[in-house]
Amino acid sequence: MHALMQQFPLRVGRILDHAARYHPNRSLITRTVEGPISETSWSVVRDRALHVSQALNRMGIGRGDVVGVMAWNTARHMEVWYGVPGSGAALHTLNPRLFADQLVYVINHAQDKVLMIDADLVPLIEGIWDQLDTVQHVIVLTDEDHMPQTTLPDTQAYESWLLEVDGDFDWVKGDETDACGICYTSGTTGAPKGVVYTHRSNTLHALAINSADMLALSATDSVMPVVPLFHANGWSLGYSAPMAGASMVMPGRDLSPAALYEMLEHGVTVTAAVPTIWLMLLNYLETEQKRFSTLNRVAIGGSSCPRSVIERFQNTYGVRVLHAWGMTEMSPVGTLCSFKPEVLELPEEARIDVQETVGHPPFTVDLKITDDAGNLLPWDNATQGRLWTKGAAVVERYLHADRSATDSDGWFDTGDVATMDPNGYVRITDRSKDVIKSGGEWISSIELENAALDHGDVAGAACVGMPHPVWNERPVLVVVRKPGRTPEAADILASVASRCANWQLPDDVVFVDELPHTATGKISKLRLRERLHDMNYTLPTAD
Ligand code: ADP
Repeated sequence: MHALMQQFPLRVGRILDHAARYHPNRSLITRTVEGPISETSWSVVRDRALHVSQALNRMGIGRGDVVGVMAWNTARHMEVWYGVPGSGAALHTLNPRLFADQLVYVINHAQDKVLMIDADLVPLIEGIWDQLDTVQHVIVLTDEDHMPQTTLPDTQAYESWLLEVDGDFDWVKGDETDACGICYTSGTTGAPKGVVYTHRSNTLHALAINSADMLALSATDSVMPVVPLFHANGWSLGYSAPMAGASMVMPGRDLSPAALYEMLEHGVTVTAAVPTIWLMLLNYLETEQKRFSTLNRVAIGGSSCPRSVIERFQNTYGVRVLHAWGMTEMSPVGTLCSFKPEVLELPEEARIDVQETVGHPPFTVDLKITDDAGNLLPWDNATQGRLWTKGAAVVERYLHADRSATDSDGWFDTGDVATMDPNGYVRITDRSKDVIKSGGEWISSIELENAALDHGDVAGAACVGMPHPVWNERPVLVVVRKPGRTPEAADILASVASRCANWQLPDDVVFVDELPHTATGKISKLRLRERLHDMNYTLPTAD
């Protein structure tokens, strides 16, 4: 029997239509790349996004093409965010912090035909221009007055380019399963891999993120994505905020604590970023004796959120922490920590214990943990296993790959190791390649790092396994001290000992001035191991 409901392809243009039609006056406040703070609305963003779609079509760009966008979080970026898919093309987010050879690789691999870039990033593209195989045009996201001198051929200022069309246009029609966006994993393990989102997966994912036990965005919220739109699909905020009719505040490129605080005070109620950003902001608030006027929740993910960050936000500033986990391959959100009834009835301290987990999945995401042989493991809050996922917005195959990224039952191996509790709360204990294997047991590097960060004199901590003749591997803790503080190894180990079993305690503490980071701001364990190797480091217990 045929169903008798309307065909309503889930295309992302509908999200902006909804925002512009039913929430036209909700504002987008931006710290522009040119400097001043500007304000616009969803109806204006939609109008200009339609100009972008039309202007791209006029250039011959449409279905099957890819447009690379390298830009900070601004209202213009939101216009392009919808204008590119609205032209029928796919929007490829580019991270300006990638190494030059990685940028060349991803632009060529995705076959970007047009690049749309912020004015300050022009020199970066000039530096790699000779190596780009497919790019034909460059649009600089500014006006004629702010157009930089450039050696790039075929380059135009965005504002003049938009004026070449009249905006009398509608989103290009297509299937909901057409490519909408492309985001590459940051390539911490080998070459970056392209994840191609569909209109449908982005729409369903944004609906899931907006559900009540997830971000629960609403028209009364004002959302500031500190996480760049070019990281992991911008954590979906570019879709979920307009879908909810929320306002947005866009911080531009200045992510210093003072600049972020200034933007948060433009009425922001919800914000999102990786833990390092919040550590810096919390220190700034403490030193400057400032408080938030409107902020009530902060989503934290990308790497594990230390307990002290949760406590400081909630206890000192009354801002609820939403600890989340996900990955580029999951669009990206997999879980978020909100309270089920079993958690609500716990005392405050025990609830914070639960907030150290990354919570539970929304509808559309399915999870399981297994041993290395693929056997299901129990959800007993203790047994660690490989974390697998299936879902409406989970990768099936990487761009140009000749085989599936999933197993024969459609499960994708996240590469993370986790425990789950009987209520479905997930605790990420490691990435499988970083797990420390000591005498047949797994030691969680994340737990040891978080325990070290609880010591008041520690600014940064990373734990890696080092070869050991008896135990195979033993943990060593690499620590950056806070300026002016001089804790000894024994002090830090004493503090860590209160949070782990004796046999899990690191064998050594190595002090360094800074830890190596990836292009998405995570600690690079790969480079850290290389550094220890270059130092000819051996465990004191290995003799
Ligand atoms: P990349 O793999 O390129 O670094 P992603 O942003 O896709 O980029 O990273 C996803 C990974 O980040 C996850 O597989 C997980 O290891 C880690 N991660 C994300 N959120 C958390 C979290 N809340 N706690 C611990 N690890 C996390």
